Amino acid sequence: MNTFELDSTYIANTYARFNLELVSGKGCILKDKDGKEYIDLASGIAVNSFGACDDEWINAVTNQLSLIAHTSNLYYTSPCAKLAKLLCEKTGLKKVFFSNSGAEANECAIKAARQYGIQNKGEEYYNIVTLVNSFHGRTITTLSATGQDVFHKHFTPMTEGFVYAEANNINSLREAVTKNKCCGIMFEVVQGEGGVLPLEKSFVEEIKKLAKENDLVIVVDEVQTGNGRCGKMYGYMNYGLEPDVVTTAKGLGGGLPIGATLLGGKAENIFEPGMNGSTFGGNPVCCAGAISIVERIDDKLLNEVCEKSEYIINELKNAEGVKNITGMGLMLGIETEKDASEVINKCMEMGVLVIKAKNKVRLLPPLNIPKDKLVEAISILKNALKN
Ligand code: PLP
Repeated sequence: MNTFELDSTYIANTYARFNLELVSGKGCILKDKDGKEYIDLASGIAVNSFGACDDEWINAVTNQLSLIAHTSNLYYTSPCAKLAKLLCEKTGLKKVFFSNSGAEANECAIKAARQYGIQNKGEEYYNIVTLVNSFHGRTITTLSATGQDVFHKHFTPMTEGFVYAEANNINSLREAVTKNKCCGIMFEVVQGEGGVLPLEKSFVEEIKKLAKENDLVIVVDEVQTGNGRCGKMYGYMNYGLEPDVVTTAKGLGGGLPIGATLLGGKAENIFEPGMNGSTFGGNPVCCAGAISIVERIDDKLLNEVCEKSEYIINELKNAEGVKNITGMGLMLGIETEKDASEVINKCMEMGVLVIKAKNKVRLLPPLNIPKDKLVEAISILKNALKN
């Protein structure tokens, strides 16, 4: 059996994959099983921050592999401690809990917010306000946090304790916060899976105000927006926000699974031994890879992210077949005149990989994509967008 046949026979039927088998890559160029090359504008859904098989990342990972791959959290390891220090220094948050995915990072954040409520407000203050159209993960609790009914319907009963407010609707937010006994508010600054929709600055100001007035833990889900993707180390930094908890994953590991929950402010000292844990969380190999990514997210790279973002927006805003562009940095959504899937398939045919978010074409190129490759890919995308 070939890979397609093996996959459809043995893999659980949860993914609608493209008809494409990728076998190798270097930077923003990926190769399929027949040797055809593609310019990658998706980065494995915002994971491969520096593209495929980045040399520094490979060195960091293989060096650690040859030392020790896994120890359990019963022992100290240097990559885990060093990565935590780097993340704290880059954000001003104070402590880190490591896990393996975005969903787990969010589970930890939810625990932190609930624990704050129990300790400081009373046991009934367990509700967390999240936003309609958000996406926070696939575990039952992070699905419950996700403000999209479509994700809930097969898996009821959902975890209790989430109330939904409409993004960018201050009245809806105020009502959710004041009519429920809440411990926290959790949101993405750009809703990724929800259609690449940034929060308005005035809405984020209201979040700050309401959190202060109502003693709420502010949790920002930076799983997709983080690690340089939105032109700052974390997306919330575009809003002058000081969150108590920041969750991240995806691009942090540069291709290996890692999640991190950064704790500060109200949540700095929320946990005691035994309150959370993970067999693989803080795995030395994943942490070594992540260090090689985080160390390189500096002002120079972030300026390049912003310049490339501007280039893409300028190229596409008046292009044929484009209705609207949303997003921030190298996380952009294009509302298209044609069906988005048609554009995506056309791009693939012509050697460019882009993906979907709701009804939009979503671009998440590697942060270090060379300008000439970006120019080539955007010109192909413009052709695919034409009616
Ligand atoms: N939060 C956000 C904002 C995401 O975009 C995602 C995944 O797309 C998740 C959480 C879940 O991350 P993971 O798939 O690593 O569990």
